[in-house]
Amino acid sequence: MSAQPFLPFALPEIGEEEIAEVVDTLRSGWVTTGPKAKRFEQAFAEFLAEPQIECIAVNSATAGLHLALEALGIGPGDEVITTTHTFTATAEVVRYLGADVVLVDIDPATLNIDPKLVEAAITPRTKCIVPVHYAGLAVDMLAILDIARKHGLRVVEDAAHALPTTLERELIGTMGSDATVFSFYANKTMTTGEGGMLVTRNAELAKRARVMRLHGMNRDAFDRFTAKVPSWYYEIVAPGFKYNLTDIAAALGLHQLKRLPAFQQRREQIAEVYNEAFADLPLILPPAAPEGDVHSWHLYVLRLADAAEIERDAFIEAMFARGIGCSVHYIPLHLQPYWRDRYGLTPEQFPHSQKAYERTVSIPLYTAMTDADVQRVIAAVRGILLGD
Ligand SMILES: *Cc1c(COP(=O)(O)O)cnc(C)c1O
Repeated sequence: MSAQPFLPFALPEIGEEEIAEVVDTLRSGWVTTGPKAKRFEQAFAEFLAEPQIECIAVNSATAGLHLALEALGIGPGDEVITTTHTFTATAEVVRYLGADVVLVDIDPATLNIDPKLVEAAITPRTKCIVPVHYAGLAVDMLAILDIARKHGLRVVEDAAHALPTTLERELIGTMGSDATVFSFYANKTMTTGEGGMLVTRNAELAKRARVMRLHGMNRDAFDRFTAKVPSWYYEIVAPGFKYNLTDIAAALGLHQLKRLPAFQQRREQIAEVYNEAFADLPLILPPAAPEGDVHSWHLYVLRLADAAEIERDAFIEAMFARGIGCSVHYIPLHLQPYWRDRYGLTPEQFPHSQKAYERTVSIPLYTAMTDADVQRVIAAVRGILLGD
């Protein structure tokens, strides 16, 4: 149908500065965690512009979520509440620790976790809430933090989509939860190839996460006995993990972070062009951020309205036939064999997520798209829904 090259669902935008910084790292002789990872953590803290915030660079958001929950002492017998409408990484880390996952449904307007359902799911075993800022639209954190305070629960934000997202003009990462975790996976709003950042104001949590990030190695432990630590000395205080971010990855991150405001503006601009172009179609368009707040636009998620005459799967096939990649975010966890079978879950328990799953499609939205690419996506969506 199309002679044009295939337009992928997502592509990173890597510039000459990123490439030069990686080459500099390779030539420096220091390729694993070192000065650039440290600089990246400092730059990230400056970006969040929040005193006392600690940024801990890790090799994935999954690692960051695991470290945060571990540091909070989540373990066997505990329950952690999160949304069914997410990627499995959000929930799997809870199982790493031997704790149990309690999945709840979403608000059909935002596709974000519904705070009312969170409160209803609390039991005496509940220890933590893990909200996910779906597609880059902030969860109602004021409601979540309120519930957490009332019931004495911890909150760890999965902010894999939410850089830079704001709520009440405050950046996600500075909202007052116990920890927030960002992802720098290849398709996220900025990338280090693989990588993540654990952000917290809790000094104890930060200390534990830094130790567990690298094999449970503690050099501070020595300080209790002598002022001078020999460079070769360390103590193992726990069976830790191998979650450190390399300087090669941090080299990418230093420059991607500088470009983040421009990246966000371009994403928002594409979202606005889409919104206008699709306004007359049988579609439910993605919800906007509240007035004055920032949506990161990690994803642009269309929902086929009941009036649309095409099924979701056929829509995606038709997009591919026109040379355009699409995706679905997400196949909800309650449908995945592991989660379904472990907790005996059924679609009826999650009507909004189920309906969203059946009717949603994520279309390409990324900074490396040209205006012509955007118009091509628009022409394809309009053509398919208007039946030409
Ligand atoms: C991408 C993603 C993750 C995992 O990020 P990694 O950096 O790949 O580990 C976690 N949660 C959500 C919602 C994601 O989209």
